[in-house]
Formats: sequence, C-alpha cells, structure tokens
Amino acid sequence: MALKHDWTKEEILEIYNKPFMELLYEAATIHREHHDPNTVQVSTLLSIKTGGCPEDCGYCPQAARYHTDLEGNDLMSVNQVKAQALRAKASGSSRVCMGAAWRNVKDGEEFDNVLEMVRTINKLDMEVCCTLGMLTENQAERLAEAGLYAYNHNLDSSEEYYKEVISTRGYQDRLDTIGNVRKTNVTVCSGGIIGMGESEADRAGMLVALSTLNPQPESVPINALVPVEGTPLAEQQQVPIWDMIKMVATTRIVMPETQVRLSAGRTQMSREGQAMCFFAGANSIFAGDKLLTTPNPDVSEDMEMFKMLGLNPQKAFEKKSQPESVAAENSQFQSQGEKPKWSRPAHKIDRNLEAQQKAKTKA
Ligand code: SF4
Repeated sequence: MALKHDWTKEEILEIYNKPFMELLYEAATIHREHHDPNTVQVSTLLSIKTGGCPEDCGYCPQAARYHTDLEGNDLMSVNQVKAQALRAKASGSSRVCMGAAWRNVKDGEEFDNVLEMVRTINKLDMEVCCTLGMLTENQAERLAEAGLYAYNHNLDSSEEYYKEVISTRGYQDRLDTIGNVRKTNVTVCSGGIIGMGESEADRAGMLVALSTLNPQPESVPINALVPVEGTPLAEQQQVPIWDMIKMVATTRIVMPETQVRLSAGRTQMSREGQAMCFFAGANSIFAGDKLLTTPNPDVSEDMEMFKMLGLNPQKAFEKKSQPESVAAENSQFQSQGEKPKWSRPAHKIDRNLEAQQKAKTKA
C-alpha cells in the first residue's frame, strides 16, 4: 500500500484507542515491514547555546521569562562542538543534533559559526542535525550547502492546543519553517510533546498535522513532558508509560517509513517500558546524560539496555534496507508503470548523501 497522506483525527483516534495488544501487534508488524526491528539509531543532542530565549514555550526552562535554575551559555566554539561530537561518536552515536535557544536564525557571525560546526561534524562522518528556531528559505539552503542532514522543528501539539502552550509564535510559523527546509535536500525532523495537559484528540491532531505533510517527516520525535520548576507546566503529572507506548505505536502506523524517536522523559521510564516502545516502532533515542537541559539516561546504561534487548546502534548514513517483499511489489508496480512505494524516501536519502559528499569535496 502507498503511504496515506489524508489521515483524519477520527481515524487516528480509532487507532490510538484500539485494544492495547491489537495496537501493539499492528504497529510491530508495520515496523518490521519497513525497518530492521533490531536496529536503533543513537543520537546525541548538544545544547550549543543555552537559555535566554525570548519565546514563551510553557514547558521550556530556556525561556528567559521563566525563573528556573538553568545556567545560560553563549554559543559554543567550533572546537568545543568538535570535541563533544568526537566523544559522542566514540560512545556509539551516529548523529549529533545541535540546539540553540533562539527564536529564529539571524544572519551574521553566529550563523556562520553554526555553518562551520555543520561542516566540521560532517567531516567526522556523522549525520548532523540542527534545531535553531525559525529559518528562512535562504538560511535552509545555506545549511544544506554546509552538509546538514536534518533540521528539527517540532509542532509540539495539535494546532488547537498549541495556543495554550505558546503565544509568541504561531503554528503556521512552524509549518512555514518546515516548508522552507523541505525546499532543500535537508531531511525534516518534527514531532511533539505529550503530557502538557492536552487531550487524546490533541495528540491525534498533532499526528494529523505531521502525517498529512507530503512527504511525511523523515523523523518524528515523541517526547514525554519533563516538568521543570519555574515553568508554567511545572505541576503537570508524569505521563503514564501506556500513553507513550500508544503514542509511539500510533505514530508508527500512520507514518510507517518515518524514524520514530523516543525522546525526552526516558529517565522516568523503566527498561521494560522502553522495550515496549521499541517493539511498538520507536527506532531512535537520544543518548547522553542531558537532553539539552533536562536529565537523560547515561550512555553506558543505554548500551547495557541495548545489549539486553539485542539491539544494535544504527550506523551513520545507513540506508534503510528495502524488505524483499516490498522490492518484489515495487518491481511489479514499475512493470505496470506505477510509482514504486519506496521511491520517495530512498530518493530523498540519496539526494542528501549527494549533498553531504558535495559539501565534503568543497571543504
Ligand atoms: S523551546 Fe526553543 S523556542 Fe521555545 S523557549 Fe525553549 S528554546 Fe525558546
């Protein structure tokens, strides 16, 4: 079946509320058809500029207006970033994601430094991702030229609930940035947070917004809110693990080819809970004892968990293998003059690899 891009909230809610075992079985089956179930990507998230953000995201200790214990930092140097990336690579990460607490990217010295960081990590043969706030088309193009692999810009929640959490920029601003990234070879990473007080319909609404993008994002992080004292969402209750598993499974079903990232909130999850998330289709985690500013399991604990579950960290730029059944189906489609099911993501990855190689040759 070709990817579906017209999911409705009702259809997604129906999936989310299936009997748990049925939901898990369906998600795990789809996961196996599109991904190697024993491979999980390990990414390292690096806060290259911390705190002092003018935005008012209700969950974020980096917003300057909230009184938290967070210690801010100016933009790191290229050498500092390179040293951290080398450490991440040595401990099994294949991707470095650099986050800066900015409302939007401003042209000038700081952006030039970020471009240099992208080139530097690219030369280490690691995938490099950035999350820097809103981007113009030209800035997205410059990041692509520097060899950026992915750009993260989360939708956070449904369009309706988003307004309850953030007032300083709109949902459409987010979609516009995603649109600007889409015009380049850079892959799109966009997801959200559960546990902010949203309803199940809001969770489904967020998945509608993501899955109806065409193409769908190559990567969708699912975060569980980590309430931080001093932020408006400090008093929120921890999200039940069942909700996380259901959310991961539903995301896998509506976006079969996407890399689903089990992101913030893992310190509150048992290994059994995380294993269920992997079974339900999560195939990426963030490693390192901090996720930008909130706690995260230590990388050695994660590697122990991988060993216990027989999971292997994904290599950088590893192309998703096309299952034989899909290959056979595709050759049948092609002989009938139809578009093959796997053509879009493979093509996207090829273009991205080409851009990486071009950036390396230039450097
Ligand atoms: S989530 Fe990003 S944009 Fe929002 S306050 Fe935090 S750093 Fe700023």
